[in-house]
Amino acid sequence: MSEEGLEQKYVQQAFDTNWVVPLGPNVDGFEQDLKDFVGQDREVVALSSGTAAVHLALLQCGVGPGDEVLVQSFTFCASSHPVKYLGAIPVFVDSEPDTWNMDPSLLESAILDRIRRTGKTPKAIVVVALYGMPYKVDEIKAVADKFGIPLIEDVAEGLGSRYHGRVLGTFGKFGVLSFNGNKMITTSGGGALVCEDREAWKETMMYATQYRESYPYYQHEKIGYNYRMSNICAGIGRGQMSVLEHHIAHHRMLAAYYDQAFRAVDGISYHKGPDFASEGSNYWLSTITLDPLLKVKGQEKAYSRMVSGAVGGAAGVVHSNTQLRSDCEPNTNVEALRCALDESGIESRPVWKPMHKQPVYAGAPSYLNGLSEEIFRRGLCLPSGPMVSLEDAARIVDTIKSVLDI
Ligand SMILES: *Cc1c(COP(=O)(O)O)cnc(C)c1O
Repeated sequence: MSEEGLEQKYVQQAFDTNWVVPLGPNVDGFEQDLKDFVGQDREVVALSSGTAAVHLALLQCGVGPGDEVLVQSFTFCASSHPVKYLGAIPVFVDSEPDTWNMDPSLLESAILDRIRRTGKTPKAIVVVALYGMPYKVDEIKAVADKFGIPLIEDVAEGLGSRYHGRVLGTFGKFGVLSFNGNKMITTSGGGALVCEDREAWKETMMYATQYRESYPYYQHEKIGYNYRMSNICAGIGRGQMSVLEHHIAHHRMLAAYYDQAFRAVDGISYHKGPDFASEGSNYWLSTITLDPLLKVKGQEKAYSRMVSGAVGGAAGVVHSNTQLRSDCEPNTNVEALRCALDESGIESRPVWKPMHKQPVYAGAPSYLNGLSEEIFRRGLCLPSGPMVSLEDAARIVDTIKSVLDI
């Protein structure tokens, strides 16, 4: 059956059996599929988004008002925003150059410094598999264990990525998955929380369904949330699980192609990662970095036109921007390349702007080594999904070469 066929079958079943609600056979089936996929006897709760999964993980690590949480700065905002939802304080930690994920030694000095300054140990660590690339699991876990701080793996971008063969999201106390439209698989929107044991699974279920106690009426002893995935979305998820391995293989094939192709291009580096990471990465997005000295046609005009609209659509609603530049932005050659690709109908994007440089986090404690800012200035994400064929990738590389001023 075709990919859409399976999805439609499960969604149709939901209607036929009158399970158009946030529970039901598709939710159970999708959770079972995910559980089988991640292995390690982990439990899985399907939720309305990956952001909700981060929120519920933090909550169960006991994060509350005034507490501190160590978060990888180089990430999408959903890794850190839920810290603020809980009235807690994100403490940002910079990345190491190999995988672009949290730097273990910087993490350790950050923890020591927080304890020295506040007298309290941070409540949790949120580490990310940026663009699907596995982080330095052993090193990060060693630091977390040394201080007894629970580890939350935000592998929203790393579904199916592995570390020495074991699926990411099964190493920490919690693992966060996302099935948003742009991720490895989609349920239109959705996420899941991978839990260590049955106890954590139960608490996650309670929190995701308004924390209802067993009475013949609604009895609430804690504040809960309406975070459960709907049976319709889960039907799409069940269909998508059948193509997950295929998607991963496709992303990895594109990564191998880009890696090879850019070896021949001076001034552009493909972010392949060290062996342990490239063996296991799902390469959700393929990324390149541009040498600041590389000249791209039209770069003197970069940032001269106002951008309308936010990256990723954001429902088409944005504030009108009054400034062309910010104090931390991609280099002009990167912006010129993005514009040139755009003119050829190829969508590329800057890498995530580090959270410690986001205006909303001005003043948040941060432990930095310059890496994430440097990669933000030089980096660009290339089309990497299952809709991109090898011929498309060849055209993308050719288009990039054609606008280099050499
Ligand atoms: C996409 C993403 C999330 C959250 O996912 P949603 O399902 O969109 O809420 C969390 N963390 C990272 C790093 C992500 O890229």
